[in-house]
Amino acid sequence: MSVATSSRRKASKRQASSDIEDERPSQSRADEQVEDDEDEPQARRRATNGVKKEKKLDISRKQNTREVGEDDDDEDDDGRIDVENFHDQPLSRADAAKLQGLGRDWNNIAKHVRPNWRVVGDVAVALAEVGEGEDVVNGLVELDDIMKNLIDIGAEMDSHEKVLDEIAQKILQGQEVDDTADRYKEGVLVELRDYRNKTTRQKYAKSEEYASFKSAIWEVQQPDKGMPPITDFIPKEDGDDSDDDDELEMGGVNQNYNCPITLTLLVKPVTSKVCNHSFSHDAIMQSFRGSPSVKCPAAGCTKKFARTDLVPDKDLEKRVKAYERRARRAAENSDAEEIID
Ligand SMILES: [Zn+2]
Repeated sequence: MSVATSSRRKASKRQASSDIEDERPSQSRADEQVEDDEDEPQARRRATNGVKKEKKLDISRKQNTREVGEDDDDEDDDGRIDVENFHDQPLSRADAAKLQGLGRDWNNIAKHVRPNWRVVGDVAVALAEVGEGEDVVNGLVELDDIMKNLIDIGAEMDSHEKVLDEIAQKILQGQEVDDTADRYKEGVLVELRDYRNKTTRQKYAKSEEYASFKSAIWEVQQPDKGMPPITDFIPKEDGDDSDDDDELEMGGVNQNYNCPITLTLLVKPVTSKVCNHSFSHDAIMQSFRGSPSVKCPAAGCTKKFARTDLVPDKDLEKRVKAYERRARRAAENSDAEEIID
């Protein structure tokens, strides 16, 4: 920064002395020769004045309120950053690590925020349990929009992380990266534009958050039927592929809250990161019998997993409890009907 400041000052000095030359009255060569020696100190004084005038202008242009003193020569330590003339420097490898750190910050924010979106599903379940009617339908439509907006925000957070990481990778590969702020801004805008251009299916059909939101409502409304694929809820639009990649879609899983081992309702459920099957905690832990991994006990599943692949599934546990509650209420109702009969 001090380099930029001092080169600017040199420029203004040059400017000042040429002004002075212009101001000199036109004289004959001879006169000039004679007077030169005499004039010299005065000329220097005038030059100095000129420089000071220039500096004053310069500084007022920058809206600096500092007074210009007589001994202004050691301005190098004035600490001002000459923003207009500040040359953008390429980032160093150390900066790449900082960018990656920023990317991780976005990731952490997303990780903290995302689990809370389940509350939208909880509200939807509570609303669906009220029954039918226009208010319920409208409320569920509204919650559906909220869920989609949240997923959009998730995509935006992801794009920040992605763009920062891409810039960092370029630096680490030895590419010269400058204008980083612009690259970052521009990169995120491009990502967001690409996202907006996606179809509704492309945005939400493969979102786990949307799938669990939809299936939570489905379970309340049609507890006896398996949920169809998520795409059944999202009409096909221009740009959607044919239904070839159905197998990749979420949903369509018949909700069953029984543990595949105990065949009774899940207790303290854990879910396998490998194949997404869930089990009662104690039952699956016993099935390891000392070996490091076990074949998945779920019917038709050929995957193997270790204890560390099993994560406590609080969300599922909540749904099991809600299911129990509904089952109990249904039983009470039918008991009541029997009594009336
Ligand atoms: Zn499995």
